[in-house]
Formats: sequence, C-alpha cells, structure tokens
Amino acid sequence: MHSLGTGNPAPLDAELSMDSGSSAVLRKDGRGRAKTSPARPFVERRRQRPMEHAWHEALESVHRLLIRYEETNRLLTEAEENYRSLFESAPIGIFRIGSGGNPAIVNHAMAAICGYDSPERMLAEVSNIGEQMFVDHERWSNFMRVLHATGLQCGIEAEINVRSGARKWVQLNVRAVREEGRIVHYEGTAEDITDRKKAEERIRQLAYYDLVTGLPNRPLFEERLTEALSAARWKGQGVALLLLEVDRFKMINDSLGKIFGDRLLQEIAERIRTVAGRNLTVARLGGAEFAIILEEVKTAREVEPIARQVIAKVGSEYSFLGHSFNVSCVMGISMFSGDGRDSHTLVERADVALYSAKEHGPNEFQFFSSEIDNQIRERLRLENALRLALERNELFLVYQVQVNTRTGGVSGLEALLRWKHPELGQVPPSEFIGIAESSGLILPIGEWVLRTACTQARRWQDAGLPAVPVAVNVSAIQLRHHGFCELIRRVLGETGLEARYLELELTEGLLMSNVDVMFLLIQELREMGVKLAIDDFGTGYSSLNYLRQFKVNRLKIDRSFVREVPENSDDAAITTAIINMAKALNLDVLAEGVENIEQLDFLRAQNCYEIQGYYFSRPVAVDQVVEQLQTTFIQ
Ligand code: C2E
Ligand code: MG
Ligand code: MG
Repeated sequence: MHSLGTGNPAPLDAELSMDSGSSAVLRKDGRGRAKTSPARPFVERRRQRPMEHAWHEALESVHRLLIRYEETNRLLTEAEENYRSLFESAPIGIFRIGSGGNPAIVNHAMAAICGYDSPERMLAEVSNIGEQMFVDHERWSNFMRVLHATGLQCGIEAEINVRSGARKWVQLNVRAVREEGRIVHYEGTAEDITDRKKAEERIRQLAYYDLVTGLPNRPLFEERLTEALSAARWKGQGVALLLLEVDRFKMINDSLGKIFGDRLLQEIAERIRTVAGRNLTVARLGGAEFAIILEEVKTAREVEPIARQVIAKVGSEYSFLGHSFNVSCVMGISMFSGDGRDSHTLVERADVALYSAKEHGPNEFQFFSSEIDNQIRERLRLENALRLALERNELFLVYQVQVNTRTGGVSGLEALLRWKHPELGQVPPSEFIGIAESSGLILPIGEWVLRTACTQARRWQDAGLPAVPVAVNVSAIQLRHHGFCELIRRVLGETGLEARYLELELTEGLLMSNVDVMFLLIQELREMGVKLAIDDFGTGYSSLNYLRQFKVNRLKIDRSFVREVPENSDDAAITTAIINMAKALNLDVLAEGVENIEQLDFLRAQNCYEIQGYYFSRPVAVDQVVEQLQTTFIQ
C-alpha cells in the first residue's frame, strides 16, 4: 500500500581500499564521493592481488549487501509504522471503498464516526456504504455520478445513518482511483460536522422560523411565495394567498399574559397546519397574522372551502391553562393565475382584501377585487387626511344640550366631534370615527376631544355660567388602551375640571366585550368621581346582571327606539321597559333623538325627564352654548 522514501544509501559498488592490515577503508573525495586509492586502475590492481584477497573482497561485498539490506528493511518498517500510526490515529476518518461500495479499509476515526467501536466491526457489518448509510439515496447517486465524471469530489456534505440508528452529518473528500482507465476503488476522508450543522440549523431556525409557533417567518414566507409563483408560471397553474388575522389578539395577550398569548398562537398555528390534503405553506408574519400559500389552484371557487375550513377551525373553542374561550378572525385572499404579477403585488392585494374583510365582521373572508381596491384606497386617502387633521386644526367640537324637563334648564352637554376638511368639506363622524378606530388615530384624537371638552367646560364655569357636566364619547379602543384612567386623571388635573362634571359615554358592546377588565376600570373611574353613561342603550346585549354590577350612572336610550314613539307600539313598549328597568336598578335615564312634542310627552308620561334631541337643539358651536346655558327650554 505504501511507497517508501528511504533516504540515499551509499552506492553498492563504492570502492573499498585495503590498508596494510585487514580493515577496509572507504575513501572519499572532497565531495564525499568514493574514490580509489592509489590511482591505479582497478582491474590492474585485482590481477596483481593474491587469491585470498579477491575472496576476502567478495565476502566483504556480501557483508555490505547484507548490512544494506537490513538497513533498508529497518527503514521500510519504520516508515510503515509511521504511516500506520498516522492512518490509525488520524482525527478524521480515512477510508477506501471498493468499486461496489463496500468498505475495504477504514481507520478508527472513520469507524467511530459511523458508530462502530472498531474498524473490523465496521468492515464486517457494512457491505454497501451508499445504500446502508446515506440518508438521501438520490443524493448518493448524484454524488457518485459526478465522482465518476470528475474523479474528485471535495467538501461534499451528506447526512448518514450511523449504527445506533441516529443521524450524523459528514463532510467528504473522495477520489476515484483508476487502473488502466477502470475505477478500482475510491479513497478519501470523512469529517463529522454534525455540531456545525446543528449550529447552522439553529441559525437558520432563528433567521427563518418563528420561535413561538415554529412556522416559517416573513422572510422565509416571501422566499416560498416567490418560488411558488415561479413554479406556477412554469407549470401554468394558479396560486392563492390567504392572509389571516386573529381579532383582538393584542388585547388577549395584554390581559391574559404572554404565556397565554404564545400558547394561543401555537394552537392556532397547529389548527391552520392541519387543514389537510393540500399542497400548502403556512407562515406566521408577525403578531396574530398568518399566511397560507395554496399551490396548484385554478379558480377562486376551489379556495373558498379551504378558507371556510381554516376560519371554522381557528374560530372553534380553545381550552387550556384554565380558560375556555373562542376567538374570531378575518381573511383576505388574492389569486395569481399565471400572469406577470409578482409576490409583492399578491401580498398587497391579499392585504387589501383583509382590510375589507375586517369591515364585514368577524369570521369573514374576502377575495381581492378592483372594486374593493377602490374602496380601500378611498379609505386610506381619508385615513391619511385624518392623520393630518389634528395638526392642521381641522377638528372641532360642537355641543348638544341635554334638558331636564322638570326644571326646563340645561342639565348637561354632549361634546360631539366634527371634521372640516379643506377639500372634502364637513366629514360626518359616521364616516371617520370608524377609520380613526381602525387606524389607532382615535387615541390622539380621543385625547384631544377629552382635553378640549374639559377645558371648555371649565371655561364656562369660570365665566359664571351654570355648571353642568360635559359628556364625552369614548371609543372601545381608548378604553382598552393601557393607562386610560391615568389619562382621565391627568386631563382633569391639567384643566382644573372637577371629576363630577365629566361624564364618559361608553357603549354596551364595549362593556360586554371584556367584563372582568371593564368591571375594574369602571370601579376606578367611579372612585375618581367621574360620571358614566351607557350610550345607545338597547342596541347591544347587556345582561341585567352585569348592568347591576357595573354601577354606571345612567342609560341613554338609543334614538332608534325613540324615533317612532308613541305610534309604534313595539318601540313604545321597549322604551317604557328600559325606563322602568333603569329606575329599578336605580339608574338615571336619558332619551336621545327626541325631535317632536309627541315623543317628549310620551317620555315624560313614562317618567323619563332627561331629554336630548333636535326638539330642543341641534349640536351647536362653542359660542352658541353660552346662550343655551342661560336658556330655560321649557317654561
Ligand atoms: P352619539 O354619541 O349617540 O351622538 C348622538 C348623535 O345623534 C349625534 O350624531 C347627534 O348629532 C345625533 N342627534 C342628536 N339629536 C338628534 C335628533 O333629534 N335626531 C337625529 N336624527 N339625530 C340626533 P353625530 O354628532 O353625527 O355623532 C354620531 C356618533 O358619532 C355619536 O353618536 C358617537 O357615537 C360618535 N361620536 C361623535 N363624537 C365622538 C367623539 O368625540 N368620540 C367618539 N369616540 N365618538 C364620537
Ligand atoms: Mg354619545
Ligand atoms: Mg347615542
């Protein structure tokens, strides 16, 4: 197996010269070369020597040969031992494999990498390395094909099954050894790179996978979507992109804690993943937003049942960590049908559809269409304009009086928000409050309303006008936002308005959405001395029990009930029932939207004396309020 380099023994025909005694002296010239001495020709000297000298000389030659032979043998053995030790104790695996894939020679490291306690054991148990050990047979075949063609393969990484059944990653350098053009065997080295691979995998996990759910994250999703689109273009097929957003996840996360939130995300991810039977990729894009890439789809009709299935699964009951509850979600879908659109457009369109689905309510899905696109663009235009409205002073408040029909005077004022855009003109609250809420703009806007109304109320009081509470509408987003009570406290402190002159109008749906949290919040606000009213009462689903616990100050009967009293007997019955219930619960009651004397008379007959509506006044600008505060509306 080895060829040996053994140094340069002196030439065997080097000349010996005999001194007067019997010892032979090898003379050398100045360069160390053997030299004859004296300078007579050898043949001549030989002829002249006696017979025993010739014999002696021959013996000496044999002797020298023997010494040389032993020396050569010693050097050979030494070299072989060196190479053997190098081979056997090498820290990397060294092997020779027969042309049929059978291991012929392996060192200890190679055996150890493959899970064998000795090379002998490995040689005895493995008959075909490729078949028995390579995890990916196709990869092995490819590897061999290239090796045959090139004769050398370096730095090849492969996963192998080791003896224990575990898997390892190795890096191989292999050359094909040929004799007379035919491959006789393969030789090479193998290095265990499992640890490095694990570290790489971990880095990949961190870079490409979401830590909470284990799903691909946004960068990997984008890669996969691009791949799916190229494949679809090539095969002439369609792709559907479904974006799913879980409603109110942030609120769940904030109120029940991160551990709970993470667990919920994991469950949702698992449910989406189990929508089986399709070629799909599921990714978490961030927050509670998930994406599903459906490949090989032709029409939207094919996608619909899958969208329904996913929504139904995500929407069905969860039960863990001591809680049973439901969540809702919305979904936006965009389709790719082999045209030139890129992944970016597809995502943008699914986003637009998602945005639109949110408006249609929980557990809805929406396909992208140009009609939706226009609506959303319009909305976004409005949203951008609203974003600037605050700093450009386009917002202002109007006030509507609330009249106590027993005294005839003003018992309160409701502050109502108005927006006057330089080009769009007056935008009604019904058109922009929703946008302010969905964009989060309601937070700065709501704070501005609160501060402006409190400042104004204090100013009227300072001007010596009758002190009445000012009512401010509060959106669900504001109330749920962390630090709401603190904001109220701060605004009251800054404006100098006493808490009893501020009334907050909340809606039923808001209170019922998260009873435990709202209960505490209301308690804190009541302790501060702020008044609380339930606005648009009768349109939600308050339970009497909660109403009793919530300890608000009053109910405002929604104007949809008041509109047709007294002639509509159903509405009359409901209005009467609300008034009686409020009295029974010891709550004040106010009727909204009173426009005529018939409505007013009916309400007074039912013992409802607090009235708000066009009958007395439309909402008016600040300067007109001064006069109204001094007016007696009923003599
Ligand atoms: P709301 O709080 O129920 O306010 C009463 C609405 O009824 C006001 O509409 C008012 O102008 C209208 N109204 C009052 N009396 C009558 C009447 O006799 N007949 C009729 N047909 N309507 C009457 P507006 O000002 O358009 O406000 C609509 C809604 O927008 C408000 O309903 C409230 O929910 C919301 N909103 C207004 N300002 C704010 C605000 O500052 N913050 C928040 N979050 N919401 C606000
Ligand atoms: Mg209101
Ligand atoms: Mg109302």
